[in-house]
Amino acid sequence: ATPTSIMVGTGRAAELGVLFRRGDALQRLAEVPVMAFDKTGTLTCGAPALVARHGADGVDTDAVLRLTAAVERHSEHPIARAIEAAASGPLPTIENFEALPGDGLRARVEGREVLIGTARLMAEKGVALDSLRDAMTEVESRGQTPVLVAMDGAAAALFAVADPIKPTSRDAVASLRRAGVKVAMITGDTPASARAIAAELGIDHVEAGVRPDGKVAAIERLQRTYGAVAFTGDGINDAPALAAADVGLAVGTGTDVAIDAADVVLVSGDITAAVTARHVSARVLRNIK
Ligand code: ADP
Ligand code: MG
Repeated sequence: ATPTSIMVGTGRAAELGVLFRRGDALQRLAEVPVMAFDKTGTLTCGAPALVARHGADGVDTDAVLRLTAAVERHSEHPIARAIEAAASGPLPTIENFEALPGDGLRARVEGREVLIGTARLMAEKGVALDSLRDAMTEVESRGQTPVLVAMDGAAAALFAVADPIKPTSRDAVASLRRAGVKVAMITGDTPASARAIAAELGIDHVEAGVRPDGKVAAIERLQRTYGAVAFTGDGINDAPALAAADVGLAVGTGTDVAIDAADVVLVSGDITAAVTARHVSARVLRNIK
């Protein structure tokens, strides 16, 4: 592409809400065979709500929710806001709070050891899920995230959290696929929940159960499989992956850390801007003004 077509393309993209911060990203994006997306906050709204609760045998879920919310109050995760919003009344103070990135939280509340998070975390800590297993399968099959809670080492409750898909994500994925682009999703969610969302969006490749420090490895796996990869994300966790991708695109409504690490900024939260970015790149490559 000529310097003039790059300049014109950058200006045109900016008018359409896509900021190319580097000319080489504009020249490369249309040639990348796979576009990968973070799930939470990128393909989904990132504003989950608590939609169902299941108690283990003989457990009162209201009481568990109160203690869970007391711990989640200290977490930055979007799931924490959903749980906090669902609890009513004053929350007890907590001690020994510990965040377990990519897995959940633990703390001491009213003399009890409370562990919150994924089934993987429960398995690691030796918590048997028994009576919550069926509920978990059901929750995951709906594309919701199961938040498990154990008290003093015993399974207590399962809270289902649902994060709606952005209204434009489906169209964006469909447009990319029509253009012959492979679409992938990278998420910390469980494989079963992730697959349900991917199916709804028509996404062919899913990297699930990815820990925050594993997103770069997921990008590298995609690079080995497909050659080059563009990655779109919004979170602090996404910054290393945005830097590792051949082209990194940050959602403009996301965190500053993600925006700083990206080659391209999609100004609105609308994911169809990623399609626009690719379209402008293709025109520049063909030297169309
Ligand atoms: P994602 O952005 O895909 O949610 P994370 O790495 O932040 O990825 O978290 C992975 C998983 O760990 C979440 O889907 C959730 O199941 C669990 N998790 C993380 N933080 C919390 C929390 N504060 N409360 C409950 N579950 C959590
Ligand atoms: Mg995210």
